[in-house]
Amino acid sequence: MVTLKDLNTPRKNNWCPGCGNFGILTATKRALIRLGYEQNRVMLVSGIGCHGKIFNYININGFHGIHGRVLPLASGIKLVNPNLTVVGFAGDADQYDEGWGHFSHSVRRNIDLTLIVHDNMVLGLTTGQTTATSQKGFKTKSTPFGAISPALNPIAHAIVSNGTFVARGYVGEIEHLTNLMVEAIKHRGFSFIDVFQPCISFNKINTYEWFNQRVYKLEEEEYDYTNRQKALEKSMEWGDRIPIGIIYKEDRLSYHDNLPHIMDVPLTQEPIEDIDISSTINSMM
Ligand code: SF4
Repeated sequence: MVTLKDLNTPRKNNWCPGCGNFGILTATKRALIRLGYEQNRVMLVSGIGCHGKIFNYININGFHGIHGRVLPLASGIKLVNPNLTVVGFAGDADQYDEGWGHFSHSVRRNIDLTLIVHDNMVLGLTTGQTTATSQKGFKTKSTPFGAISPALNPIAHAIVSNGTFVARGYVGEIEHLTNLMVEAIKHRGFSFIDVFQPCISFNKINTYEWFNQRVYKLEEEEYDYTNRQKALEKSMEWGDRIPIGIIYKEDRLSYHDNLPHIMDVPLTQEPIEDIDISSTINSMM
């Protein structure tokens, strides 16, 4: 059984004190402990941005990839070794800007992995520029007169892309976020959590106070997350009240369930010594 001591690393944490990333780190460790998986059964993937350093602070195998490519990496890892539990961490610019082309296709394929997006609505590592989820009018170094375009809605996009687990969390609600992560990782198929993660250094609008005044838990209302139409309506809710929790969930065969031949023997365990690909290579020369 994995413990907190097992998951800690000696690396010095250099996120800004008070950064929302600490909440995601804590919730992730708690979720992994609660799930009880052996460390070598889990694989983490992170992208580029402040969030990417999470890879340094959890003692689990991982791949710190390039900007926007968390989903191709995580998908490839899961496809060649379905025995692994794969969790991808991306930033909002990382996933919703550079990596946007991968989002809908990964969602609809329903590959059995989890995507957690650290959504602070700003580029933190590069000291404050807009991202796809920056609110209209948001002033940054790159938009001194305010962001011109309306923000992208990742929750609605995930639902219309036939997502099977679509959720939103908030680092100001750690226990709630931990529960979401546990449910997401257990879900058989693609699970997605957009997490409000305040950047205290470069987003002075969407602060802890701003979120505390607005977020409410769907679990405290009579809400049926299996109703897709209602979920789509809920995904549009923004302003004075913003829902967190599981917004949509359904059971559907995962990508792997449709490929029984790679489920029986993972590609990583297939014998390759006797495979001769020289004729294929020669045919392309
Ligand atoms: Fe966190 Fe923002 Fe600091 Fe990055 S710049 S570590 S996101 S507070």
